[in-house]
Amino acid sequence: MERVGGKRFLRREQLEIILQALQTEGYRCVGPQRVEGAMVYQPIQTLSELPQGLRDQQSAGSYRLTETQNRPQNHRLFDWANGPQGLKPLLFPPQEPLWQADKGERGELTFRPLGVEQSPLAVIGVRGCDLAALSLMDRHFLREGAEDPWYQQRRQQLFLIAVECTTPAQSCFCASTDTGPAIKQDYDLRLHELDEGFLVDAGSAQGALLLQPLALAEATPSMVKQSEDALQRAAAQQQRAVATDDFRAIFAGRETSELWESIAEHCLACGNCTAVCPTCFCHREEDVSGLELQQSSHQRVWDSCFSGHHSQLHGVAVRSGRRERYRQWMSHKLAGWHDQFGESGCVGCGRCITWCPVGIDFVAESARFVEEQL
Ligand code: SF4
Ligand code: SF4
Repeated sequence: MERVGGKRFLRREQLEIILQALQTEGYRCVGPQRVEGAMVYQPIQTLSELPQGLRDQQSAGSYRLTETQNRPQNHRLFDWANGPQGLKPLLFPPQEPLWQADKGERGELTFRPLGVEQSPLAVIGVRGCDLAALSLMDRHFLREGAEDPWYQQRRQQLFLIAVECTTPAQSCFCASTDTGPAIKQDYDLRLHELDEGFLVDAGSAQGALLLQPLALAEATPSMVKQSEDALQRAAAQQQRAVATDDFRAIFAGRETSELWESIAEHCLACGNCTAVCPTCFCHREEDVSGLELQQSSHQRVWDSCFSGHHSQLHGVAVRSGRRERYRQWMSHKLAGWHDQFGESGCVGCGRCITWCPVGIDFVAESARFVEEQL
């Protein structure tokens, strides 16, 4: 990664200048917003739209935002851990038309590819686990010779303002997957929030250009120490940890383990875990006809290994039950990804734990397989 200059101090209100400069350059900006009780990315025009002084409480099957009572923490903009949404829907929308077929007067068909929105996107508040997930998505969608043009176009126009996590949720385990809470992947600008403002540094020439006119003072050694201590505390606070990075050996020959059945007894096969997972990329494609039958649109729609039809091969569902579907989800994520991409498909964001309606704990369940092996 290109590092441009050291850490500087940015007053909280100076983030507005960066936001306005990005918009002047033609970027659409999205940042965290409280929507229906959860933190998700939404379009923003000014800094005042970012919620201040919010924290989250997360555990298996539970999520709640609360107001911070203490000053000066209640001025903080990023004092919460990730909500349900990662970068995935911004680059790979849940539903997306790929091309359209139009019927002419004599019944002839014309096919027209559909592009993506042209304006570049700046995302404010991206956490370490989601940057790690982005790098995994790149491996899939930008594989040499098989690049996905829709993803590629959005990815090339993406500006990332990363934020280091200092208040992990109870479901987070990025320290054990080595994907957080510090930022370890590429970014354009990186923020570390303190009570009095931010430490900021640029990870790209474009990020450095945005900082240049602000003529920011260097961060003091005590500010840097404060940020390093906060990251160490955030890692130490995490209550979950993946038990091993060698799940290929753990799952080998365990296809019929009773443990799969015990998970399936609770699992609803709702697919929430795959929807919130920032690295799940399965989709199906379908054609949708206009009511006048003059037009049809070919769309791709997120799919899930928990859907009944997802494993249909020649009319037969290869994974017919919840037991086989959960096995596919966990063993692909933790083991199969190593064969496909050389690393785990889990970045420790904990979303599948928080957003599972019956509170199935991905880390605890995977640990049971490790224990059974011992
Ligand atoms: S498997 Fe769960 S914890 Fe791991 S990246 Fe996906 S949603 Fe996050
Ligand atoms: S593990 Fe939880 S979120 Fe995933 S399909 Fe089963 S019930 Fe739904």
